[in-house]
Order: sequence, then structure tokens, then C-alpha cells
Amino acid sequence: MKSYFGKIILIILGMVFLSGCDFLFSQKEEIKLENNKILEIEKEESANNLEENIQENISTNSSTDDIKEKKEVKDAENVLQISDKFVDWGFSKADNRKIDTIIIHSSYNAVGKDPHNLEDIIYKEYKPYGVSPHYIISHDGKIYRLVEDKNIAYHAGESKVPDGRTGVNNFSLGIEIVNTKSEKPNEAQYNALRNLLTYLKSEYKIKYVLGHSDIAPGRKDDPWNFDFERVK
Ligand SMILES: [Zn+2]
Repeated sequence: MKSYFGKIILIILGMVFLSGCDFLFSQKEEIKLENNKILEIEKEESANNLEENIQENISTNSSTDDIKEKKEVKDAENVLQISDKFVDWGFSKADNRKIDTIIIHSSYNAVGKDPHNLEDIIYKEYKPYGVSPHYIISHDGKIYRLVEDKNIAYHAGESKVPDGRTGVNNFSLGIEIVNTKSEKPNEAQYNALRNLLTYLKSEYKIKYVLGHSDIAPGRKDDPWNFDFERVK
């Protein structure tokens, strides 16, 4: 009898223990689940953050690249490149002449099919007339030096600057831009001209930057469709 009761008590204790354990297990499970949830949320958040970070990095990088690219373009625009292509006509040699004026002109090729053909302009337009500027800016924005600055190039003809001086060739530099009467100088040409003018202004004390039409009104109407504001 005694052992019978003992067995029942043991069974009851065992059941209580087991249910307690079950309670404990289920508690753990819930916590575990909750933890999983939290972990998942955290994971998601960190994934979002990561994505945001990547996005940010991409946009930061791309904007940095943009700035870098823009800067490179700007730098390239500001680089002065002059190719020498000296002619043996259209000027007289001089030493120690005082340069204080720059005259802007326009030229195009009227003899061939391509109005922008530089060789035709130089050898078929200038050469037969025995004229030449100091510089010519081709339609693709390249600067060619045809006559040295120190020499007197024949580009202005009969002309007068605002202070009354005539014989403008003697104290000026001539720059030709390749464009026709029906087109404006393009971006590359304006950039090249700006760089060239900056350089020449650093070399000489320039009083005037004028168009051919300013010094020979009625006789000359170039530079054509030219905006002086763009080279100031
Ligand atoms: Zn001219």
C-alpha cells in the first residue's frame, strides 16, 4: 500500500515536472521566435541600410565622377594649344614692334566645296592675295599660327582704331575664325579664341580687341555673326 501511494506521488510529481518543463520549453520557443523576428527585422533594416549605403555610394561616386568629368572638360577647354603652320607670304618682318590691338576676322573657303577647308582658305584665298592673319581658328576649334607675333601680318588693310591711329597692321595681331556669313562661330572656336586672347593679353598690353568691321566700316563686315560678349 505504502509503495502504491509512493508510485502515485512520483507520477504526480513527474507530471508536474513535465508540465513545468513544457511551460519552460514553450516560453523558450516564444522568446526564440521573438528573437528570430527581431533578428529578421534587424537583418532587414541592415539590408535596407546597406542598400541605402550602396545607393548613396553610387550617387556619391557618380556625382564625384560628374564633377571630375566636368572639371576635366573645363580643364581641356582651358588648355591653349597652338600649332605652327607658318606661311612665307602676307607679312613683313619686324623687330620690337609694339602690339596693343587685336583684330578679329572671319574667313571661309569660297573656291571649293567645303567652306571650312583650312588648306583652301590659306593656299587658295590668302596666298593669291598675299595676305595672312597671325592666327586662324579652324572650324573644329584648333588654333594655327601662320605668322609670328613680332612680324607685321597683312590682315587689316586700310583701317583706323578709335584713338585715330591708322596703319593698324603695324601695331596689331590678326585672328581669323573660319565661319561663313550664314553661321555663327561654334563653341570650340569661342573656347579656343578665349584661350588665345587670355594668352595674348598676358603677353602684351592690349588696348583694343576689335572686329575688322570696327576699324574698316563700310569696307569690311567681318567677323560675321560674332558675339564679343563671349570672349570678354
Ligand atoms: Zn577681315
